[in-house]
Parts: sequence; structure tokens; C-alpha cells
Amino acid sequence: MIATNAYAAYDSNTPLKPFQFERRNVGAKDVQIEILYCGVCHSDIHQVRNEWGGSKYPMVPGHEIVGRVVKVGAGVTKFKEGDLAGIGCFVDSCRTCPQCAAGEEQYCEGGGMVGTYNSKDRQGNPTYGGYSTQIVVDEQYTLKVSDKLPLEGVAPLLCAGITTYSPLKYVGVKAGDKVAVLGLGGLGHMAVKFAASFGAEVTMLSGSASKEQDAKKLGAHNFVLTKDAAAMEKAKGTFDYILNTVSAEHDYAMYLDLLKTNGTMIIVGIPPTPLPLPAGKLIMKRKNIIGSLIGGIRETQEMLDYCAEHNIVSEVEVINIDQINDAYERMLKGDVRYRFVIDTASLKQ
Ligand code: NAP
Ligand code: ZN
Ligand code: ZN
Repeated sequence: MIATNAYAAYDSNTPLKPFQFERRNVGAKDVQIEILYCGVCHSDIHQVRNEWGGSKYPMVPGHEIVGRVVKVGAGVTKFKEGDLAGIGCFVDSCRTCPQCAAGEEQYCEGGGMVGTYNSKDRQGNPTYGGYSTQIVVDEQYTLKVSDKLPLEGVAPLLCAGITTYSPLKYVGVKAGDKVAVLGLGGLGHMAVKFAASFGAEVTMLSGSASKEQDAKKLGAHNFVLTKDAAAMEKAKGTFDYILNTVSAEHDYAMYLDLLKTNGTMIIVGIPPTPLPLPAGKLIMKRKNIIGSLIGGIRETQEMLDYCAEHNIVSEVEVINIDQINDAYERMLKGDVRYRFVIDTASLKQ
């Protein structure tokens, strides 16, 4: 077994603390990765605080993982020692259902994907995430990472990146489409970069006036302060798509008004409470709401390769692990530009 240092939540309402555990030995198809950076996703906070229910403790969060391969099993063909590698939100799935066969493992119908943390592997053991020094994962669920980009900026691509890339691709965003991104956080800033790089006219919808300049630097063409009633009135009926990344309860109906007839809101933010929605908001102008969950391994690799080719990374603030509890508080205040990333060297002491 492989001794691993980590930080864990021991329950839903006390700060994360040091935790030691053992990773499984490297099997024939496994790669062992020494973790270098791990991004901090708002889903980590939701799960640590049991906002979605069913959280299991101790919980080692973290599903935006990049590192270096230190050992491979005898049957591994994709990786060798010394390669860079990434792990996203899941580490296994049934591999045989129609969704797995289609490369959409996140929608696995054969028992569901095995989450990178807060989940159980196929042997029934708890899974532990990337706020840790090492991880052992089957090569089929491990991503190749280019050495062209700064690694700390690549880590958030494994969740924030794919979660925004995948639905923009799915709905077919193309040059000239009017795309609004709601919420400028970890997901939102990647959504702006991708939508702009696909040629869309991008509008940032944000509750934070202080983010206007940043939004434009990230590639947004327009900025609408959602508290500005006149600006919101003017934006009514103007967007083909709204990518909604908001993590907290909010007025979905108000934002649906901003869509054109036949427009689509893509929901990726997962607030703890159900969405309240008057049916007329959809019916009167044949509007659509769809949800989207991360992306499969094939598409995640496509996204990573796209980012390497187009020089796209996340804007990050690198922290040491002992800053994690403070980082959560700052994220809840919207005080992150635009993703915290843990330098896991700080876990080695
Ligand atoms: P984040 O960095 O905290 O960003 C969330 C942004 O939402 C904030 O920066 C803020 O932007 C806006 N916001 C926060 N509270 C709001 C409120 N009450 N009303 C309106 N806007 C508000 O979070 P993240 O890591 O990007 O994650 C966002 C959500 O996506 C979370 O719920 C997370 O669990 C979920 N998620 C889903 C998937 C998936 O597969 N579907 C994957 C990863 C994460 P402004 O300051 O610009 O208003
Ligand atoms: Zn995430
Ligand atoms: Zn499956």
C-alpha cells in the first residue's frame, strides 16, 4: 500500500485537517501519479458541507488533479514513468453500458461513475481525491497532459474546463452566436474563454461590478451587472444561450427573460435548493433548459489538447494546503480570481 498525506473534512461543519491514508498498490492497468497541483472547485465546498446530502467522511476533496506518473502497471500502454497526467471528477465506471460505450462515462447507466472522492470504488472502498500527495487510477480514466502549459493553470481544466467546454460543444456554439455566461467564478471564467475562442459574442452576467475589467480581459465582449435593472431590461430577449454557473439560490426566471425565442439556458451550477420556475417562462417563447455534467474521458482529452493548441489555461491563485479553509470562505464571498489551486508540495511536510 502507498502511504499518502492529505487534508480531509471529518464532518460537515469543522475545518479541514491533516489526514493520512493508504492508496492501493499499482495494479496491472494502473498508473500512480505524484500529485503536483489540485484545483479547488465549488463542488468541494458543497460536498464537504453536505449541501447535496449523502456526504461520506472522512472526505478528501479534489477532482482537478495534475501530476507526474511515478509508476505504471505491467499492462499500461498509454503512460510511462515521468509523463504528466491528469485526473478529473471520476476514476471508474461500468465500462459496458451505452453511455460508457459512447465515451460519456459521466452518465454511466451501469451503477454510475465512480467519483474521484466522496464515492466508493467497485470493491466498495472509499475514494479519496486530490488534496493529497499521490493517486492510483486505471489508465483508462487518466488524461494526458501537455508540457506546453503551466501546470497550475491546467489543473482546473479537469473540472471547470470540461464542464464548460462540453455543453458549449454539445449545443454547437459557433461564430456569431450570442452567448451569455452567468457567474464569474471558476467555471464562469473558463466558459468565457471557450465561448470567445469558438467565435461567439460573449456577454458576462455578473453580480460583481469589480469583475467587469477582468471579464473583458478574459474575452467577454460585453458586461451586464445583474443588479443594474436598466441594463437587465435592455438585455431582454438577446441571447441564444446562457451558461448558468451560479452556485447559490437565484432567480432563474429573471435570467430566462434574457433569452431569445427558442433560446437555451444550460445549467451547470448546482445550488443546494431546487429551482423555482413558472412554466410560462419556458412556454411563452419556447425556451429550453438543459443540464450538463462535466464531460467524458474522450472529450476531456479533446479539451486538454484544444487548450494546449490554443494556449488556454485557468487564471489561478496558488495556495498552500493550510490556506484551504480560508480559501473556501473567500470563494463563498466571490473573492477568487478565478480558481484556487493547491500546491501539493505543501502536503509533504
Ligand atoms: P465559484 O468559483 O464559487 O463561482 C460561482 C459564481 O457564481 C460566483 O463567482 C458568483 O459570480 C456567482 N454567484 C455566487 N452566488 C451567487 C448568487 N447568490 N446569485 C448570483 N450569482 C452568484 O464556483 P464554481 O467552482 O465555478 O462552481 C459553480 C457551480 O457549478 C457550483 O454549484 C458547482 O458545484 C457547480 N459545478 C457543476 C459541475 C457540473 O458538472 N455540472 C461541475 C463543476 C462545478 P459573480 O460574482 O460574477 O456574480
Ligand atoms: Zn468540480
Ligand atoms: Zn457505464
